[in-house]
Amino acid sequence: MHCLIAGAGLIGASLAWRLGQRGHSVTLADAGTFCGEASHAGAGMLSPEGERFPDAIWAERAQQSLALYPGFIDELKRESGLAIDYDVCGAQEDGRHFPNEAIVDPRDLARALRQALARYRVEVVEHQRLSALTYSPEGVQSGRFRADAAVVAAGAWSSQLQVNGAALPESIPVKGYLLGYHGAPKLGPIRRDGHTYILQRTNGYTIAGSTEETMGFSRDIDPARVADLHRRAAGLWPPLANLAPADVWTGLRPSTATGRIYTERWGAAPVWLAYGHYRNGILLAPWTAEYLADQIQRQ
Ligand SMILES: Cc1cc2nc3c(=O)[nH]c(=O)nc-3n(C[C@H](O)[C@H](O)[C@H](O)COP(=O)(O)OP(=O)(O)OC[C@H]3O[C@@H](n4cnc5c(N)ncnc54)[C@H](O)[C@@H]3O)c2cc1C
Repeated sequence: MHCLIAGAGLIGASLAWRLGQRGHSVTLADAGTFCGEASHAGAGMLSPEGERFPDAIWAERAQQSLALYPGFIDELKRESGLAIDYDVCGAQEDGRHFPNEAIVDPRDLARALRQALARYRVEVVEHQRLSALTYSPEGVQSGRFRADAAVVAAGAWSSQLQVNGAALPESIPVKGYLLGYHGAPKLGPIRRDGHTYILQRTNGYTIAGSTEETMGFSRDIDPARVADLHRRAAGLWPPLANLAPADVWTGLRPSTATGRIYTERWGAAPVWLAYGHYRNGILLAPWTAEYLADQIQRQ
């Protein structure tokens, strides 16, 4: 089977990897660069306890995905030969402790996935925006690409694609800021208080988040937002008060108008939806990739 995936974020790339491992060929087309959007911006908390999910099924899937993580990381490290910063450091919130929660560096995941994909019949095509998918009994077509099945994994941009002229469920970008600090003391577990959180990579680089704004596709940086986030972060963990953020960045979380996460077939079309992972796409990537690889294979 040949599969065309629109969007090479962590969701599309993880799925391409799983399909490649099962012997399928994949074209992984991205409007920008490989894992260059939300999957580059994300903090990488793997925190099913600290997050709200659309329903109990997704809360359960988040736990399942967390449980898949150690195997996912080991396999990716083995296939890529690259290191991945992954730390089961636990989390603390409101005096409660969640010992199984973890942190992964999504940029390490992206590098390792890119390397691992080269082992399989997966063609990565960057700077290739797909807009229309059309299907017939012969398969799916988008511009010069033809496939037996297609997947829409274009994050916040997913509903910009149409399938046989029909609109897909609306995807919505939700902007978030993160701050990065050098020189902080050791943090230990992730600290959270409502929308404020602090985590630390194993090399000591410390990240504070975040904000939520629905304002289209703008990635602009507002100094007032940065100052407010720094103040909240220093309130949660006072050692940050003496440091200035070395890095400031924003990203666009893929939310949806319904609040649903879509991992399903689009009606009777040979087209699958894989978007809406919102604040938890890094956490949910291993589960989503395995689930959709199974479903698409059974098509
Ligand atoms: C500030 C911030 C903090 C976060 N922290 C966490 C966290 O701690 N833990 C966690 O689990 N998640 C976190 N997330 C969420 C997580 O980053 C996302 O849910 C996840 O990266 C979504 O992956 P994706 O592949 O669906 O989308 P993306 O990574 O956005 O990938 C979509 C890709 O589709 C491409 N594309 C767009 N349009 C088209 C088109 N027409 N044709 C082809 N390609 C197209 C884009 O160029 C992009 O590369 C955070 C997000 C942000 C912004």
